[in-house]
Amino acid sequence: MEKPKIPDKEKQRLAALKTYDILDSLPEKDYDDLTLIAAEICDAPIALITLIDENRQFFKSRIGVDIEDTPREYSFCSHAINLPDQLMQVEDTSMDQRFVDNPYVIGEPKITFYAGVPLVNPEGYAFGTLCVLDSKAKRLNERQERALKSLANQVMHLLELRKKNKELELSRKKVDAYARETEEFVYAASHDLKEPLRMIRSFLKLLKKKHSQHLNEEGLKYLSYASDGVKRMQMMIADMLEYYRLNMDELTAEKVDISKLVDEVSAFYKREHQDAEIKHSGLPAINASGKDLRMVFENLIGNAIKYRKAENHPVITVRAEANPGEDWVFSIADNGVGIPEDHLERIFGLFQRAHSGKQYPGTGIGLAICKKIIEKAGGKIWVESKLDAGSTFFFTWPENV
Ligand code: ADP
Repeated sequence: MEKPKIPDKEKQRLAALKTYDILDSLPEKDYDDLTLIAAEICDAPIALITLIDENRQFFKSRIGVDIEDTPREYSFCSHAINLPDQLMQVEDTSMDQRFVDNPYVIGEPKITFYAGVPLVNPEGYAFGTLCVLDSKAKRLNERQERALKSLANQVMHLLELRKKNKELELSRKKVDAYARETEEFVYAASHDLKEPLRMIRSFLKLLKKKHSQHLNEEGLKYLSYASDGVKRMQMMIADMLEYYRLNMDELTAEKVDISKLVDEVSAFYKREHQDAEIKHSGLPAINASGKDLRMVFENLIGNAIKYRKAENHPVITVRAEANPGEDWVFSIADNGVGIPEDHLERIFGLFQRAHSGKQYPGTGIGLAICKKIIEKAGGKIWVESKLDAGSTFFFTWPENV
């Protein structure tokens, strides 16, 4: 028996094989289908997809044999990979010095015929083969050889696809971990900013209370700008903490009576905006996190009042519709200033605003919070609007959260 030669650049070949993460993997139908076709086409009782590891040959797919691997020194395919661009064919092992006393020739499965096409990766490393074996001496015809080569190409495509998928999964995990880390950092930083801001605000108040007599009109104006800035920053931090908290909270669900919830939210806003008319009809009780859904309605009804037209009192209508077995569709319509068309999608992004802060103070976080809550539950949110005529925000909520 002749031991197979170790290929040149064996270290690199083994390293490349490891990148496919396929050694010792479980059988897979895609590979088994190709082995089956190889066996059928070549009319052979045994067909294998082999991968040559350092000391053994692993069978990724096998038809006609029970073992999962064999020692490398007895492997036919270890000879085949030394000529990566050729199909190796042994018509009769009893006539071939290399294999005549091979244990798998003398003993089971009594290999007499072998044909294997090397599996070669794009860098030119041969990992193993797609091969067919028989206990009878024979020769593949040209068509069988061509088909076996094409099938080997398909095995290589499967291997490359597997590698790409693994790489993708790894990148996705890295991106997820990075996003989580960033969110945790923003959350922690925002949280830590609260205290110094509270301090600045208190000292600005003290300064105004105790020393305003020493300041001229310009000085007082600057003081007021500084207080406004701090207030705005506090608002943004509170909203940002709310936004990032949503990522960390688990999804919970209870029966929430939306009609009652909208009444409570309306009562809250009407204390400050007595002229606001908030109507609703046909609102159901649904499965949701009551706290999160309250935040959605607070933001949407709050905005409907905030972005009102100066000349008329706000009229807001909250509705819900559902077809049996489908998601609920909620709508919150107002008669406010409306939204420019080029902002209709953008406003759901973090810090995105369509109106000036001077006229309408805000942080640009409220709708991003709504979107996050709704999407987390499996719904979606969108808006239809006409400048000067009003806006209608829609969102869907799955029946079973
Ligand atoms: P904020 O109101 O704090 O700016 P939001 O995220 O709640 O932040 O809203 C984003 C932007 O969408 C607002 O700045 C505003 O331009 C626009 N918007 C939201 N709701 C309405 C509405 N009902 N009518 C008109 N514009 C709206």
